[in-house]
Amino acid sequence: MTRAPDHQFLTTPLQYIKGVGPRRAADLERVALHSVEDLLCRFPLRYEDRGHLQPIASIQPDRPVTIAGEIVSCGLRPTRRPGFKIFEALVRDSSGYVRAAWLNQPFLRDVFQRKQQVILFGIVARGPGGPQFTNPQYEIVDHLEERDTVHTGRIVPVYERAGSMTPKMQRRLVWDLLQRLPDAIDDPLPLELRAEHHLPDRRAAFMQTHFPDAGTPLEVLHQFRTPAQRRLIFEEFFLFEFGLLLRRQQNEGERKPFVPKVDDRIRASARSVLPFKLTEGQRQALKEIVDDMQRPRPMNRLLQGDVGAGKTIVALLAALVAMENGLQVAFMAPTEILAEQHFLTIRRLLEASHFRVGALTGATSSAARREVLEQLASHQIDLVVGTHALVQETVTFARLGLGIIDEQHRFGVLQRATLRAKGLNPDVLVMTATPIPRTLALTVYGELDVSVIRELPPGRRPIKTLVEPESRRPEIHEFIRKELDAGRQAYVIYPLVEESSKIDLKAATEMADHLAHDVFPAFRVALLHGRMKQDAKDRVMRAFAAGEIQLLVSTTVVEVGVDVPNASVMLVEHAERFGLSQLHQLRGRVGRGTEQSSCVMMYQAPLSEQARERLKAVADTTDGFVLAEKDLQLRGPGDFFGTRQAGMPTLRAGDLLRDFSILDEARQAAQDWIARDAARGRIVAFVRDSWEARFGLVGVG
Ligand code: ADP
Ligand code: MG
Repeated sequence: MTRAPDHQFLTTPLQYIKGVGPRRAADLERVALHSVEDLLCRFPLRYEDRGHLQPIASIQPDRPVTIAGEIVSCGLRPTRRPGFKIFEALVRDSSGYVRAAWLNQPFLRDVFQRKQQVILFGIVARGPGGPQFTNPQYEIVDHLEERDTVHTGRIVPVYERAGSMTPKMQRRLVWDLLQRLPDAIDDPLPLELRAEHHLPDRRAAFMQTHFPDAGTPLEVLHQFRTPAQRRLIFEEFFLFEFGLLLRRQQNEGERKPFVPKVDDRIRASARSVLPFKLTEGQRQALKEIVDDMQRPRPMNRLLQGDVGAGKTIVALLAALVAMENGLQVAFMAPTEILAEQHFLTIRRLLEASHFRVGALTGATSSAARREVLEQLASHQIDLVVGTHALVQETVTFARLGLGIIDEQHRFGVLQRATLRAKGLNPDVLVMTATPIPRTLALTVYGELDVSVIRELPPGRRPIKTLVEPESRRPEIHEFIRKELDAGRQAYVIYPLVEESSKIDLKAATEMADHLAHDVFPAFRVALLHGRMKQDAKDRVMRAFAAGEIQLLVSTTVVEVGVDVPNASVMLVEHAERFGLSQLHQLRGRVGRGTEQSSCVMMYQAPLSEQARERLKAVADTTDGFVLAEKDLQLRGPGDFFGTRQAGMPTLRAGDLLRDFSILDEARQAAQDWIARDAARGRIVAFVRDSWEARFGLVGVG
């Protein structure tokens, strides 16, 4: 099925568009905008009604206003605080004057000039010298009088800045692209569907989303609920849900070459490796998995369970079922350290069995690697534990029956697909400790079946969680010293806004030095951060796991899933900067042994309302699912599902929380339309395009 000529225009890479060029294209790339279509599907951050600019004389204080006027005078004003400068401008329209001040942005000197026409947007306060804007958003317009129809004289879109691409440049670009949009553009949503859901056609939706007609209420625009906006949101969700359903259908139709069976002999074998009694949740999850494995179609299941819930043993028992049926198992972890830990655990548990376990990671020597590869191909190894090295092309299995992927969010969906492809369609079990609220799991993991372990194994002492201001650092350090004296270990986590930020790295490094030399000179302290080479990181982590390092100062790279039961204290510096689920994951690093563990969340005052709520939520409960729901309320799923975090595609128009009801509607529509032959071919073509280009998913269709 081919698509109409507009397809070519819409899929043009932005770098080939006049006025974009390589630098701006790269900036746009960074915010996931690759093609003309991406740009047109991306909503403005907000809108301004420049059709009705407010006369300066009528400005009410404390409310957002947009004014247009001419700069009468402007310049930099020094202040008494050294290094602190204020740039000021006096702006006039036919009704009056207003002052604007920008704090510490001396470069504005080179931006503004007398006699320029400007538009200012912001909140005006009553100052000593009359009304004044502080740090307003601004735009310099060329011909205010000529009623420019792109930047003034109408409701205009204001986009989020993307690197060197300013909101104004983007507005011009989008405008030009819309002028060039072919008259008839192909629409993934069939006419009947659009009529049923009251959605405008695609062309109109693009136009009205970016340059709404006069009179469109700003509130509705800002709620993203105009018919045009609803239509683009609906479209995005519809294609996404349609794609998930396609994959599910496809999966249902597949057959695996080896279908395991479970009998009493296998049950006895499982009991013999089991070191403890499974919790009810583990038993239920295992039952769902094993039932699935005995079906003729390949399993495609997600096992969700909070940190420490005991997912590994469940996966191992599933592995045992596969191996008892003469199949091989690949067990993948996101890092070398985790792979090594799993390898040791699994080898120990399988010691008494006749199954042979191998390991394959980036650290495996090339001689050892060759041997493992041979043994996998000749089925002398039954279970191999490794990193993504396992999905490399040179690895072939004699009879791969089950792939287990731990800490799923670190793996691209692609790797899952590769594993599936290489193993003659094996069962796939994906494990994640990121608790995902049920409502969302259903939707975003629509192609996976989900099992959940909610409770923790018995006998755990709940972790004590404290929220403390920085002024209490000496007491906290004293407390850590006692724990170290008692032979235990501790983590100190330092936030990096970006793992690559030099400034933050310096702060973390200084902190580590300070702790090593001044605070805990009697103990061994080491630093771990994201800019270290992988093998250096692994060395530090190994030394910590072995107890050779007692205090680990780390950025958040401290591995998800790493198990150091002797660590009993987690101190999070600048806890106010962390997200809720991050704090929960960090806390999960301790409390893995029999000793009482503590997590101290230290904050720098003053706390924002949001940060206070986050810290309180984490202190109030250790239930990851409760926290996930809370996180969703506080932040919205846009953040919760970073693409990397949950393998979830970045949405362009839709927002899972804000637009949940549209998502629901779209899912139902997708279910309805996938059964109809009429439009299917065309919808599938659109799904394939948007999925392959954007979501990186293969094998749809
Ligand atoms: P996660 O779900 O985070 O991967 P693990 O599988 O690493 O958790 O299990 C955490 C710890 O709990 C391990 O030390 C494991 O041996 C132990 N464990 C798991 N299940 C049980 C159980 N039913 N009873 C007692 N201990 C258990
Ligand atoms: Mg684990």
